[in-house]
Amino acid sequence: MDAIIIGGGPAGISCAIWLKKLGVECVLLEASAQLGGLQTRSPYENLWIPGVQGKTGQQVAASLADHAKAVGIDVRLGCPVLFVDGQQVTSLVGTYSAPYLVIATGSQPRTGGFTASDRIIIGPGVGMETLDVKGRRVAIFGGGDNAFDQARFVRDRGGEVTIFSRSAPRAQKLLQDMIPDVPVVVGPYQADQDAMTINSEAFDAFGVMFGFEAVVPDGLALDLDNGYVRVDRFGETSEPGVYACGEVTDYWHPCVTTSAAHGIQVAKQISIRLQR
Ligand SMILES: Cc1cc2nc3c(=O)[nH]c(=O)nc-3n(C[C@H](O)[C@H](O)[C@H](O)COP(=O)(O)OP(=O)(O)OC[C@H]3O[C@@H](n4cnc5c(N)ncnc54)[C@H](O)[C@@H]3O)c2cc1C
Repeated sequence: MDAIIIGGGPAGISCAIWLKKLGVECVLLEASAQLGGLQTRSPYENLWIPGVQGKTGQQVAASLADHAKAVGIDVRLGCPVLFVDGQQVTSLVGTYSAPYLVIATGSQPRTGGFTASDRIIIGPGVGMETLDVKGRRVAIFGGGDNAFDQARFVRDRGGEVTIFSRSAPRAQKLLQDMIPDVPVVVGPYQADQDAMTINSEAFDAFGVMFGFEAVVPDGLALDLDNGYVRVDRFGETSEPGVYACGEVTDYWHPCVTTSAAHGIQVAKQISIRLQR
C-alpha cells in the first residue's frame, strides 16, 4: 500500500482515480455510506462544473462514485477514521498504514450550538428541502449567501420566513435583492431550541446557516490557517508525507472543480515522489 486517502468527496475521489491510473496502490476510506461528500446533500443543479450540464449535486456525487467503481478503486465505505498517528490510520473498522497519507475530509456546516432534529436543520441542502415549510414559520440564522438562498427557497415553497443575522448581512447583494419581501432582523437575538422561540416569538422550524468549518481527523498536529489545513503548492502539509486537498485546506476557492483539481495535483505529486 502506497497511499491512504481519508475522505471520499470530489477531492478524495479524484485523487484516488489519478493515483490508480498512475499505478500507485491506494485505499480510499469514507466515513459515510456513500461517496460524493457535500455533493450528496445538494438536490440543486450544479451549474459550476465546466463541461457538465443538467446534473444535480447528488447526480454529480453518483457520477463520481461510478467513476471510482469503474476504475476499481479500493473504497471502504462506513469507515470513519478516528485517529491518525504518524503513518498509522485507525478507523472504526480497521487499521491502515502507508508512506503517504492524503487528508480529503472536507468541511461541515457549523452548528453554532444547535442540535439537528426534524425541526432544526444545520446547513444548506437536502435537509432544508425535505422540511415541511408550507404555511409554517421558519427562522433562518446567518447573514451569508446560504442564509439568503435558503430563505428564498423556503419562501418559494410557501413558508413564512425571517432571517436573523447578528451583524450586517454579508450575502451578495444579488441574493439579498431577490427577497426584498423577507424580513431581516439584524442584531443580537435569543434563540431557544427547546421552546423553538427567538426573542420569545414562536417558530415552527430553524435553518442554521453559519457557514462551514474544516474537518480534521484527530491525532494530526498539522499547521492550520483559520482552522483549515495549511498546504504548500504541492498539497503537502506541515507533516512530511501527509498531503491534504480540497475544502479541508486553506488553498483554493472551494467548489467541486477546484477540489477535484487539488486532489489530482496531490496524486501526481505522490506518484513523482514514489519514482525517486
Ligand atoms: C448544498 C450544497 C450545494 C453545493 N453546490 C455546489 C455547486 O453547485 N457547485 C460546486 O462546485 N460546489 C458546490 N458545493 C460545494 C462542493 O460540494 C464542495 O466544494 C466539495 O464537495 C468539496 O469537496 P471535498 O472533497 O473537498 O470535501 P467534501 O465534499 O466535504 O468531502 C469530504 C468527505 O470526507 C468524509 N470524511 C470526513 N471526515 C472523515 C473521517 N474522519 N473519516 C473518513 N471520511 C471522512 C466526509 O464524509 C465526506 O464524504 C455545494 C455544497 C453544498 C453543501
